[in-house]
Amino acid sequence: MEQYKINTLCVQAGYKPKNGEPRVVPICQSTTYKYDSSATVGKLFDLEEEGFFYTRIANPTVDAVEKKIAALEGGIGAMCTSSGQAATLLSVLNICQSGDHLISSSAIYGGTMNLFTVTLKKLGIEVTLIHPDASDEEFQAAIQKNTKLLFVETLSNPSLVVADIERLALFAHRNGIPLFVDNTFATPINCQPIKFGADVVIHSTSKYLDGHAAALGGVIVDAGTFDWNSEKFLGLCTPDESYHGMIYTKAAGKAAFLMKARVQLMRDLGSTPSPNNAFLLNIGLETLHLRVPRHCENAKKVAEYLSKDERISWVNYPGLSGNYYEDLVKKYLPNGTSGVISFGIKGGREAAMRFMDRLKLAAIVVHVADARTGVLHPASTTHRQLTDEQLIKAGVTPDLIRMSVGIEDAEDIIDDIKQALA
Ligand SMILES: *Cc1c(COP(=O)(O)O)cnc(C)c1O
Repeated sequence: MEQYKINTLCVQAGYKPKNGEPRVVPICQSTTYKYDSSATVGKLFDLEEEGFFYTRIANPTVDAVEKKIAALEGGIGAMCTSSGQAATLLSVLNICQSGDHLISSSAIYGGTMNLFTVTLKKLGIEVTLIHPDASDEEFQAAIQKNTKLLFVETLSNPSLVVADIERLALFAHRNGIPLFVDNTFATPINCQPIKFGADVVIHSTSKYLDGHAAALGGVIVDAGTFDWNSEKFLGLCTPDESYHGMIYTKAAGKAAFLMKARVQLMRDLGSTPSPNNAFLLNIGLETLHLRVPRHCENAKKVAEYLSKDERISWVNYPGLSGNYYEDLVKKYLPNGTSGVISFGIKGGREAAMRFMDRLKLAAIVVHVADARTGVLHPASTTHRQLTDEQLIKAGVTPDLIRMSVGIEDAEDIIDDIKQALA
């Protein structure tokens, strides 16, 4: 499938029915698989033969979607999880344990921020937060002996910071650690971080990949490029006693990271996606290449409109010319950024809330990145515990509205904004 272009991969990668088999990826709604001999099942457990034995570890429907997403991102394989949060957690735990340290971009999704600074801390993993714009020297100063990875978002949620992936990958590799990239907002249609040196790519598939706000999910994609034979990554290159002494780098070669994540962490933690959700995700992926450009086209029109309206105090959309990240957008996101815009409205918090309540087409939702236009006022919802002063520190001004522009007609979306502003 690799020889095909990304539009074709969206539609067809991951599943090749044989003569007389279903044309559409079937939902294998079965936890278990039948075999004729115990010896065969033993071989499956020992990973000597390929096959399915229990859906917590692998399932044919999920497998087809994993192969498709790996093809879209240019990785050697992928593992789907029950949510984006689970994908982030499993990817980190795969190489970090109590006493370890990681460096993360400070411009990340709120849920990831909580996972890193609260829950990982409780597990004994320390996180240093650095803004992706910081110099190599600032990043270097954060490196410790026990630093295991660098984590960034291609296009951050909700602040829309664009990461200089190639520079950060070079920095990570100079220090013998991998670069993990959360590519949720950009999607492989707009950016493939592996091409710029990322070693592990993760997604919340609950956003554009599914695209319809129908199914929660996550995925970890392995680029297969990082050499895990290092004192830093003993869990990958020394025997795993919980898997009768398997050495992942020997057993799986380039796919060591992914194999460990699956047979060790998914086995033990069980954040498995349901076959039914994998089916829905696959249907979503079949139109990803059509939806993403439309989201971007519509968002750009809305951002351009907003930037000209004097009732709007500021607009942040990386796809808008003159944006702070214009140069990085040209390099990493030349075909579009995403459907997400943030903007401020004159009159602050009250005006923002009044404006949102008057929208008719755009709905107030906590979600982003699905087919329908949605808006959120973080200061009165997701960030409502914070004082105005704390809000500004967190980059969420009281007047900030986050709009996730959908794939409706752009004129209708703009007309809705016009009537609400009026
Ligand atoms: C939503 C989101 C997540 C978390 O994903 P869930 O599927 O909601 O668990 C992680 N990263 C980014 C960038 C997100 O937008």
